[in-house]
Amino acid sequence: MRSVHEHQRVVAQLIQPRPAVKLPLTDAAGLALADDVVAAVPLPTFDNSAMDGYAVLADDVAQASGERPVSLPVAEDIPAGRTDDLTLQPGTAHRIMTGAAVPAGATAVVPVEATDAGLHTVTIRVSAKPGQHIRRAGEDVGAGMTVLRRGQPVTPATLGLAAALGLTELPVFPRQRVLVMSTGAELVQPGRPLKWGQIYESNAVMLAAAVREAGADVVEAPMTGDDVDEFRRVLNAHSGAADLIITTGGVSAGAYEVVKEALRDGSVEFVNVAMQPGKPQGAGTIDRTPIVALPGNPVSALVSFEVFIRPALRTAMGLPRPHRTHRSAVLAEGLTSPPGKRQFQRGVFDPATGSVTGYGPPASHHLRWLAWANCLLDIPEDVVAVPAGARVEVWDLT
Ligand code: AMP
Ligand code: MG
Repeated sequence: MRSVHEHQRVVAQLIQPRPAVKLPLTDAAGLALADDVVAAVPLPTFDNSAMDGYAVLADDVAQASGERPVSLPVAEDIPAGRTDDLTLQPGTAHRIMTGAAVPAGATAVVPVEATDAGLHTVTIRVSAKPGQHIRRAGEDVGAGMTVLRRGQPVTPATLGLAAALGLTELPVFPRQRVLVMSTGAELVQPGRPLKWGQIYESNAVMLAAAVREAGADVVEAPMTGDDVDEFRRVLNAHSGAADLIITTGGVSAGAYEVVKEALRDGSVEFVNVAMQPGKPQGAGTIDRTPIVALPGNPVSALVSFEVFIRPALRTAMGLPRPHRTHRSAVLAEGLTSPPGKRQFQRGVFDPATGSVTGYGPPASHHLRWLAWANCLLDIPEDVVAVPAGARVEVWDLT
């Protein structure tokens, strides 16, 4: 049997980064920068007022106080956005709003709260230090400065900086486009009536959400029966725009294993991985598009996605934290684990106590337990029992 580690390596090698593109700021959110970003303009772009108040010559109000206020004629009114060049004459004040360009000649801004807020003449009750309440051009960003680095994630603040610099696009590694295909003759789309022996299809919506949560895009999430020709038809119809194909079902040892049969003579390998759940796995390429074939049991499918695909997808997109946060937790109740298999038990981790409880039976069709779990307990191959109170490794799924 192949080790989990080895299969992780195989899948990681299959999923390669897409070429960098320039995307509009909105679409770049959440992606990794493919290039450094150099500021073409300084920030602030011009000296501007940090307060609503009055632009003055600091010397003109050097002696101002509550007892001996200084009155100055108000020569201009400068709201934010006024675009003409203004010059302050000594012995006058300009009323000025936050963000408005400070007129040439002014050396300080006096906050409106320290004045009588006059419109024609203003009475100022405090002295001002030169430079006070003036935001200087370039004090945040100098023109020509490298403000963002390749590989950095595009966060809301990154977008704010880019927009402030006048950029409309950013160079990024684009999202991987993923086709999620579920297979099984027994499957029926939710919302339709079920016949005896049929079940509702639940892998497609689950994995599509996991793909999106990992930062990638879903191109389509179709469903097929267990007929090889139908499988190939659906695959060909939808795989054109995909960078990765994920299938579920049809890879075990029984009959009617549609994925295995349809891809047997291609460049897809079907192997048993020493893990529980998720033993049967497939990985390879179809017409150079990577394909990862997961088992059909919903728990196996999602755990396999977590273990093999999520880290590879995030790495290929250059996203931070390709791996889930791992932590050591105290096991609340003892557990057993099959020899020779790495077990990923669903668990509930309590951050308040640092303890974790293995949650639900190990069988891979128990969706309720999966839905309530907030972590995976990662039990190594050679461990067959862990007593209560011992430490185990958990993967934080939140
Ligand atoms: P398979 O891997 O195709 O042998 O499927 C294993 C088990 O998972 C069977 O009980 C299937 O009915 C179930 N299963 C497979 N695919 C899905 C799916 N898309 N949604 C829900 N259950 C599924
Ligand atoms: Mg099946």
